[in-house]
Amino acid sequence: MFWDREVETLPRPELEALQLARLLRTVRRVREHVPFYQQRFREAGVDGAALRSLADLRRLPFTTSADLRASYPDGLVIHTGDEVVRLHTSSGTTGKPKALFFSRSDVNQAAELIARCLVMTGATRQDVLQNMMTYGLFTGALVMHYGAEKVGMLVIPAGPGNSERQLMLMKDFGSTIIHTTPSYALYFADFVERRGVDPRRDLKLRKGLIGAEPYSEETRRKIEEGLGIEVYNSYGLSEMNGPGVAFECRERQGMHIWEDNYLVEIIDPDTGEPLPEGETGELVLTSLAREAMPLVRYRTRDITSVVAEPCPCGRTHRRVNRITGRSDDMLIVRGANVYPQQIESVLMRFPEVGRNYLIRLEGLDEMTVQVELSDATFDGQFEHLLKLQERITEKVRAEVMVKPKIELVAPGSLPVSEGKAKRVIDNRKL
Ligand code: AMP
Ligand code: ZN
Repeated sequence: MFWDREVETLPRPELEALQLARLLRTVRRVREHVPFYQQRFREAGVDGAALRSLADLRRLPFTTSADLRASYPDGLVIHTGDEVVRLHTSSGTTGKPKALFFSRSDVNQAAELIARCLVMTGATRQDVLQNMMTYGLFTGALVMHYGAEKVGMLVIPAGPGNSERQLMLMKDFGSTIIHTTPSYALYFADFVERRGVDPRRDLKLRKGLIGAEPYSEETRRKIEEGLGIEVYNSYGLSEMNGPGVAFECRERQGMHIWEDNYLVEIIDPDTGEPLPEGETGELVLTSLAREAMPLVRYRTRDITSVVAEPCPCGRTHRRVNRITGRSDDMLIVRGANVYPQQIESVLMRFPEVGRNYLIRLEGLDEMTVQVELSDATFDGQFEHLLKLQERITEKVRAEVMVKPKIELVAPGSLPVSEGKAKRVIDNRKL
């Protein structure tokens, strides 16, 4: 099933010709209208007008999130063209957020891409989408909302949290799809179980569109088992419209990235050099259709690789693999490079482990991982727990080469955030 079969299955040569035409237009617009890019191109000694091929892209300078912050509030906006109608910000953790502007056509285009994604998962206008993402400045909820309405399904703008109400809405209005973060999906699966609800029997849920933060295959399986649904990985970032940048099709082997809208590069995060197809590195995106705020070679910080093989679903837009983390998420613990995601994937392989965890770095480089137990495991059998603690310690050590202190805690005792989960607390005195 396709939303826009022609574009989604465009033969590669045509797709690349379209990319080039749109790239040239984007570069021309930023050179004409954005002082930041005029200066950057000058400093890099490149004449944007001299671009001839997609390969020439690598001569252009990168744009970073620091550049976006420095141009806050509106330094990168282009006001010629259609009206700028919407402001979003990225869910930045500290200081000023990044401000992102959408023109009328950007709002529409973002919804188009979501419609492609939804239909790609097998969703139809018969579906009922319960949108559990945060409505507001965050792109996650609103962009999905508009796209789902475009497909023609009923959208319930539930927002995050308040699990009791979520469950009520789900039952009363027969929600078939949820859109949420992996951390909230896990939490909600737990909640449903405690309420004695069997999702397969008592709910109509069929699919989960799960994204906005990194998660592992193990977590995908836990969510699927807990809620009786198929989970589709959903990737996006505010700088590129929010959700709908890349999404899994029914094959669920990597996420198709809409290459008529985004030009994909994978670079070595340390040297900035492009890597050969298939190698893992930092994803760099150039927007090809954004009007109000196009970005050239934007460094996402997200770590992934491009899947070279064509997808059996027939879409010609290439896939990227599950994001394994952000290059700035990497922790250095006692000299070893540790991604929180590696720890998560070890933990979620244990059936005894519940649905939440927290990594604490303290003192002189001590790593403690607090791990919630599942309800069934929390039986008070001390011996049993000690053994489990040892097994988890050993598996985590083998994965990240640092021996953690594992603290088993009661189900539901760790904090749950409404937006993106906070997985690491770093209080080291180094
Ligand atoms: P924001 O701009 O606030 O929407 O945050 C975007 C960031 O969230 C991305 O750059 C990724 O780091 C992260 N993110 C979004 N979706 C996913 C996903 N499916 N898997 C991993 N990380 C994700
Ligand atoms: Zn596919």
